[in-house]
Amino acid sequence: MYQYTPVVPFSEGVRRYILSLDNHVSILEALTAFCKEKQVYCGKVSGLGAISSATFRFLDPATKQYVDKTFDEQMEITCLTGNISRKDGQVYLHIHVTAGRRDYSCVGGHLLDARINGACELFVEDYCLTSAGRRFDEETGLNLYNF
Ligand code: FE
Repeated sequence: MYQYTPVVPFSEGVRRYILSLDNHVSILEALTAFCKEKQVYCGKVSGLGAISSATFRFLDPATKQYVDKTFDEQMEITCLTGNISRKDGQVYLHIHVTAGRRDYSCVGGHLLDARINGACELFVEDYCLTSAGRRFDEETGLNLYNF
């Protein structure tokens, strides 16, 4: 039904970073570069910020196809949450975002990318594990954890 790996040690040995991304950069590009530099193989990311565009994707379970939609407008990232792993040796970011619009409605989903317009402040935890890879799962069409 599930698989898991313990985070050992739980409090010691976890590297934590506070990350502030430059204005106007791509969140995915900057965070990927950071994870490469710090050699993060398994971690967590959370944060907030302001963006001028974002592309979200929705996986249709019936077709196993992603449907992408871009919003070119100023939005507040009210919640960014995700995990960091590796797939085929490359940084693999799985991030979900909820973003608030000018009229206070929200849009969101799986984050394909977003452009910062203001600030983006992230907290990154590196669990210092190298055993969290990804494998493609035929049934769901997802790249699931492979411990
Ligand atoms: Fe997702």
